[in-house]
Amino acid sequence: MKPFSRILVANRGEIALRIIRACRELGIETVVVYSEADRGAGYLDLADDKICIGPAASEHSYLDISKIIAAAEISNVEAIHPGYGFLSENPQFAEICQSCNLQFIGPTVENIRQLGDKAAARELAKKVGVPVVPGSPGVIADEQEALGVAREIGFPVLVKAVAGGGGRGMRVARDESSFGQAFHAAGSEAELAFKNSDVYIEKYIEKPRHVEIQVMADSYGSVIHLGERDCSLQRRHQKLLEESPSPAVDDDLRERMGKSAIDLTLAADYRGAGTIEFLLDPDGSYYFIEMNTRIQVEHPVTEMVTGIDLVQEQIRVAGGAPLRYRQEDVRIQGHCIECRINAEDPANGFAPSPGRIGEFRVPGGMGVRFDSHVYSGYTVPSTYDSLLGKLIVHRESREEAIGTMRRALDEFVIEGVHTTIPFYREVLKHFHFVKGNLDTGFIEEYLIDS
Ligand code: ADP
Repeated sequence: MKPFSRILVANRGEIALRIIRACRELGIETVVVYSEADRGAGYLDLADDKICIGPAASEHSYLDISKIIAAAEISNVEAIHPGYGFLSENPQFAEICQSCNLQFIGPTVENIRQLGDKAAARELAKKVGVPVVPGSPGVIADEQEALGVAREIGFPVLVKAVAGGGGRGMRVARDESSFGQAFHAAGSEAELAFKNSDVYIEKYIEKPRHVEIQVMADSYGSVIHLGERDCSLQRRHQKLLEESPSPAVDDDLRERMGKSAIDLTLAADYRGAGTIEFLLDPDGSYYFIEMNTRIQVEHPVTEMVTGIDLVQEQIRVAGGAPLRYRQEDVRIQGHCIECRINAEDPANGFAPSPGRIGEFRVPGGMGVRFDSHVYSGYTVPSTYDSLLGKLIVHRESREEAIGTMRRALDEFVIEGVHTTIPFYREVLKHFHFVKGNLDTGFIEEYLIDS
């Protein structure tokens, strides 16, 4: 049975297209919203209907709750898919959807509220025995108290905003002398970005890997995990390349991390697709850092190695269906690598490079998937993030996946804008990457002055 007959897609670009595709396959009609900056974009024509919701600036379009709800009401949809970013982790939006009798395709309002507060999520993790990075018990009131905690856990420490996201609201303090500055900078950056200056403190783990576990839960208490993604290749705490399985995770560790992820998901009484992020210390310990309550950019990596369509499953579960898979049905097969192809200039500090795309030749062949809304003649707007698409390869082994990714990157031609393709060509041939020796400092250490 179809979970819904008509859905509003409240997002743009590649994730809007990803949702439209999933719905088409499920026989669900879609209505997609767009801003004036996205008028004429090709993916809009793949939806059954489209509605302009205002000017380019996100706060007047993709972030404007009243406009999204109005679009849903006039288009007679039963549910809203928020994608990632924008309103996807906004509890107020989820609550308004609920009160308007529109199914929010994502977790419950309580889930978003509780897990969206990183300090509260840490406390929940602690309560159910999931290891967390040593740190302050909740929000820190002032600099004096913060310094006391920092001394107790030992430098270096990381000052983190409870509302943080996208690497913002986070500052490292290596010693007491830099502490005050880090404390205030993290708070004021968070105030600006999230209108919430509350911070907490964590031990700064040196050279960790970022390893996250994908989970999926239904409304009947079933939870499964779908293995890990290694997202250690980051620039300024932002992910650039993801892979699964992680070169650092064996069956035993996967089982332990998977169990931790499931314990937390159950404790939160969670529903839908979610990601539990951990740091993996070089000494083999792992620590929970946060839970993302949305479908993530890097979800295709898990789809390729498990064969499970996460967006479709997410829609089914939101429609009230039980999970179609049990834990023993989940098998990790082969190796997947994803590169985020951004319109940025890696030779110039990754500066955004909007503009009109000229020649555009996408790689193909065995094991290659490209999730993108872009084509020759498309104009990349300057208003939004610079993701052009995700180049994903899936082969039997990591070595073969690297070979296919190199070949695919070589085939790729994008003219008119700068892209991150030349940067990935460097990464994919780097000795330490090929060996699987990665940590979150890899780019700063080996590749560029970022
Ligand atoms: P955001 O929500 O902004 O993405 P996260 O808490 O998920 O923030 O952390 C993003 C990245 O920051 C991690 O992948 C890791 O590279 C780094 N990081 C976060 N916490 C720590 C820590 N305690 N020690 C070292 N690095 C950290």
